[in-house]
Amino acid sequence: MMFSPFGMVTARSTEPVKKYTLDEQRALAAKTVHKVRAFLLGASRFEARYADYPNDRISIESGGVVLAAAQLEAGVRYNVFWDYQGESGSDIAWKFRGDDGLASSICDMEDSMADDPNIGMPGNLLQMAASDWAQTFYDTIANYEMYGSVVKPSEPHPEPDPDHPPNHANPEHEDYDPDYEIEYPDYPTLVAAKWNSIFERVKTDEHDVECMFKHTRQGCLEPAGACPFKHTPSSSHSFADGGRRMPAMDVMDPYMYYKFWDSD
Ligand SMILES: [Zn+2]
Repeated sequence: MMFSPFGMVTARSTEPVKKYTLDEQRALAAKTVHKVRAFLLGASRFEARYADYPNDRISIESGGVVLAAAQLEAGVRYNVFWDYQGESGSDIAWKFRGDDGLASSICDMEDSMADDPNIGMPGNLLQMAASDWAQTFYDTIANYEMYGSVVKPSEPHPEPDPDHPPNHANPEHEDYDPDYEIEYPDYPTLVAAKWNSIFERVKTDEHDVECMFKHTRQGCLEPAGACPFKHTPSSSHSFADGGRRMPAMDVMDPYMYYKFWDSD
């Protein structure tokens, strides 16, 4: 079990394996990539909701007030619409979470997706837009519109307090180490570097994004070489020593495992 911006998410590794036909896979992939590109190419909008009818579809059909991303307020619910190349849809009552902890939520999402038999890789953009993770997708889109980045660029890390230096940085402490450098994983920068380029690639070319089925338990049903989306071999992401993901994450850059997926 883990936490997401929307509350508790049960471990997805226990989810039943989804079975699609080839036609269903093609239709879902086409529908989803059009949705993703609607948001990246400006064929989408965020609308304020009518407070008197928070759950009433009438409020949607009568039209709402279109808002720029910069007008959204954290914690408030909005309606989201998209319409691109024949693919239109809406999500009602999406709660904008602002930038609070978004980078670490994306790390949690990647972890959850890696363990999900119906996704099978840490962070698949098409799966993100097609699943419950679409809520996080809209957050990244709002940031992308405001800052040109899926997460707000991070503030510089504060210098250690000179009056209370860590023991390793304190010449008067027995653990003092003159070569010691404090390192903080800079998740916003790491997440932005990975996901901004994923966004840029699919914005330019709708097929320059990892297939949403390749790494699932069922797999992509297209005949070999026929899938228009990227099929990165899983072996490209294995550690040379065959080590498992979690021990490797403990000793290495904790984001190392994630950042090479869908990276070119
Ligand atoms: Zn495929």
